Amino acid sequence: MPFSRLGLSPHVLPALQDALQQAGYAQPTPIQQQAIPLIVQGRDLVALAPTGSGKTAAYVLPALQRFVLTPPRKPRVLAQLVLVPTRELAQQVADVFTTLGRHLERQPRVVCAVGGVSINPQMMSLRGGADVVVATPGRLLDLLAHNALSLQQVQLLVLDEADRLLDMGFGDELRQVLAELPVRRQTLLFSATYPPDIAALADAGLQQPQRVEV
Ligand code: AMP
Repeated sequence: MPFSRLGLSPHVLPALQDALQQAGYAQPTPIQQQAIPLIVQGRDLVALAPTGSGKTAAYVLPALQRFVLTPPRKPRVLAQLVLVPTRELAQQVADVFTTLGRHLERQPRVVCAVGGVSINPQMMSLRGGADVVVATPGRLLDLLAHNALSLQQVQLLVLDEADRLLDMGFGDELRQVLAELPVRRQTLLFSATYPPDIAALADAGLQQPQRVEV
């Protein structure tokens, strides 16, 4: 099944296809085939997909479409939040936004907000506004405490590698972030495994999710 059959809007598809071709993605991977049609319909989603399955593009493509089709009332108002367990993954996710969004009529400003490095440059960077923030949970809470960003306008939340987020002890932080987010939003949870604590997180953060597995 080609990328053109996944329900992506004709308004963004040509630009996304150019970027996919340049990135060498000839065909969608199984997780992309299953997840993208549900995400573009606006469903909450639990996706069981390991690293290497193409899970990142499975949510970045719909996220880019949402950014172009539903621009926020003001530019650079944080509308999409991706939570990841590590700094390295945050940078990889930000790079996928850049790579796959390069031919769109508008590119989102993506800021990484991760622990283990100085907070000041991130605060400076957020002062210019961001459309998408890719964050580790602890640093995101630090930045919220500094009023460096607001989660009030977030429309899309992605919990990426949710099992690793919990394994690394971010459970309390995740629950605090969930409490700060608007109730009306789309939430996507990606995880390689589905132990009971992930099921509990999905219950707490997602509404009638669809479930896909590869
Ligand atoms: P991920 O599971 O998101 O970490 O992606 C694993 C690797 O697969 C990354 O190097 C991606 O660049 C690559 N990738 C993602 N989607 C595709 C695709 N449709 N075709 C070929 N490679 C892909």
